[in-house]
Amino acid sequence: MGSPLPETKRSLAETEVQYIKGIGPRRAEALASVGIKSALDLLYYFPRKYLDRTRILKIRDAQTALLMTDEVTFVGRIQSIYLSTRGPRRMLFATLSDGTASLRCVWFNALSYFANLFKEGELIAFSGKVTSYHDKPSLIHPEYDHLEDESDEELLNTGGIIPVYPMTEQLRIAGIESRRLRRILKQLIESTDRYEYPPDPLPAEVMVTNSLMGLSEALASIHFPIDQKHLTYSLRRFKFEELFYLELLLAIRRNVIKHTPGIKMNPSGDLVENFARNCIPFKFTESQKIVLREIVDDMRSDHPMHRLLQGDVGSGKTVVALVAMLIAVGNGYQAALMAPTEILATQQYATIRDYFDKLGVSSSLLIGGQKKRVRSQIYSDIVEGRTSVVVGTHALIQEELKFDKLGLIVVDEQHRFGVEQRMALQEKGESPHLLVMTATPIPRTLSLTIYGDLDTSTISEMPMGRKRVKTALRGDSDRPKVYKFINDQVLAGRQAFIVYPLVNDTEPSRRQSDAEKLQNVSASRKALKAATQGFVKLRDEVFRGLKVGLIHGQMTDAEKDDVMRAFKGKAIDILVATTVVEVGIDVPNATVMLIEQADRFGLSQLHQLRGRIGRGTHQSYCILMVEDGYLEENKIQSREEAIAHQRLKLFTSTTDGFKIAEYDLMLRGPGEFFGTRQSGIPPLKLANLIKDRDIIIQARRSAFKIAEQDPHLREEGHSAIRNKLLKDYSESFEFLKAS
Ligand code: ADP
Ligand code: MG
Repeated sequence: MGSPLPETKRSLAETEVQYIKGIGPRRAEALASVGIKSALDLLYYFPRKYLDRTRILKIRDAQTALLMTDEVTFVGRIQSIYLSTRGPRRMLFATLSDGTASLRCVWFNALSYFANLFKEGELIAFSGKVTSYHDKPSLIHPEYDHLEDESDEELLNTGGIIPVYPMTEQLRIAGIESRRLRRILKQLIESTDRYEYPPDPLPAEVMVTNSLMGLSEALASIHFPIDQKHLTYSLRRFKFEELFYLELLLAIRRNVIKHTPGIKMNPSGDLVENFARNCIPFKFTESQKIVLREIVDDMRSDHPMHRLLQGDVGSGKTVVALVAMLIAVGNGYQAALMAPTEILATQQYATIRDYFDKLGVSSSLLIGGQKKRVRSQIYSDIVEGRTSVVVGTHALIQEELKFDKLGLIVVDEQHRFGVEQRMALQEKGESPHLLVMTATPIPRTLSLTIYGDLDTSTISEMPMGRKRVKTALRGDSDRPKVYKFINDQVLAGRQAFIVYPLVNDTEPSRRQSDAEKLQNVSASRKALKAATQGFVKLRDEVFRGLKVGLIHGQMTDAEKDDVMRAFKGKAIDILVATTVVEVGIDVPNATVMLIEQADRFGLSQLHQLRGRIGRGTHQSYCILMVEDGYLEENKIQSREEAIAHQRLKLFTSTTDGFKIAEYDLMLRGPGEFFGTRQSGIPPLKLANLIKDRDIIIQARRSAFKIAEQDPHLREEGHSAIRNKLLKDYSESFEFLKAS
């Protein structure tokens, strides 16, 4: 037991945690479960947040805090706990008192868990947004931290900053709570005479240019900052480091592309000329022209294009991509367009074939579920060069598919794909040009990270004559009026979508659905049931006499295709759908988008859905249906509901995709925002892609400078960062080396 006394300083990285004072084998096991094996790992177990006296409110100020949008913290002792079984809903109340007043905390779920968690007299810090519940300022399902009576209280009273650590059940059972971690870490940090810190991996030049705090000082300061300023500096150092490695990966990848010989194409030719003059019934917007110039410059340069094309839904990205495809075809190459869903691929293909048949450019569609014979015919047409343009889903990635001369890849709705899928397609040609398109507008700092290896073009204006979609929030009791409105629109010659969400009955609280859940078969069956039932009622009762159609994910491709065609050709007035219509569908005559149980959708999803209308010259309307209770703020019963309410309010107030994306990102964080298999970049632990914009820009500048001076990181002073990249980011690094 105990650690053997070292004669010289011991390396932190080589000291197993079990030999640190206060740990031992049993706790070491629990620590291993959160990835802590060495003393250094322990130092890198950063606080989840801090309790700072200057940021803690007195309870008598809770009323004022009602007006604040930020979370606040109150520290006090639990005065009473009370489980209410009266009324329709069981609830748990706790009263917290700090000597100035008392405050009520309320729980709706997991009541017995919380009831056992807090005991009368305990010192607790509760954090959350103060909301009004039954006319009293309250905290609903607040975050909580148990504080240690004497030492924490003393720390707080002397103005100290207390670190609060991420906790797991396993850590708690082993007796490693925040307060114990505090004690262990304090001792570890103070034994500077016993332990040797690793050398700072960041090059001296980077440290100086960006005024960064040194590693050992920052490691101490992030746990026990003297004041807010030191805390900010130590955090900044680690955020910088994290972003620096990420940007370095991107810089290296960009370097690789810039040194890869590409297919030099001549942009002027009959095809493009003919297309612009005779095929499209409109003129390009200025913004489309600028973007086209950037694409053309890429395609005639010595290196492969590697470009992200951003533009809000309906801004006209597809035609831009078509021009790029025609350039490729005009130069004797093939082009491929990959779309995330079969409906979208089919629709894009229909558009493309319409145009390209007239120009004598051969095209084919490749999606799942096609007959073997059909498919092998398509394969041979492609490999033998009889087909110039291929449109498809990820069926394009199939190994059997080979191209004759693939010169351009277009990926539509890029955010729906993973990087590996994109790369698998790229490997089917020899350094083909790449154009990825997304309608999810990305805040600039994000495009510097998530898409930091791509050049970016943005279509910033909508085609002429578009009217802003009007958006309204309506409750169940408004249904008759809403239906009448839709009826009138149809009588005026327009069409409507009615969309049903995923239904997940196992969840008691109303939560937004996400893309991952789409894959969940049982959930989608339920969605189908809801949509089907809704459909029957709408067809047979509400809209009798109108043509009501149904589309959902479990139809065959041919069936879906038939329905979409019928809708486009006005043989259907009202299309009832699950979220299969979410992305990319283009029916300009549709002017109403009714979204059922709108609170179940995420913001980006809502934005996509709303993007299905307002595509023609007629005024369009997006109607968000919710339960009546949602219309009144004071009927909101949980944090989730409060967030959903906020989301819907923001959505009705703006159609600005950038604003929506930024807000969504803030609510959900980048991981969920992009979906887990998204970007191929390592997850960020500390840096916040929205709030840390300045650090991102600085880290990027330094990283790109180093990658330029020393592309392979071979210089002496760069070996530490090189090793770090190879060690911690090897997966991404493989992906970098792959190109
Ligand atoms: P998105 O950017 O969402 O992919 P699309 O490419 O589907 O948008 O274009 C939306 C609609 O706008 C299509 O019907 C398209 O034909 C039309 N469109 C594209 N560019 C213009 C333009 N410059 N003027 C008028 N209509 C346009
Ligand atoms: Mg599109």
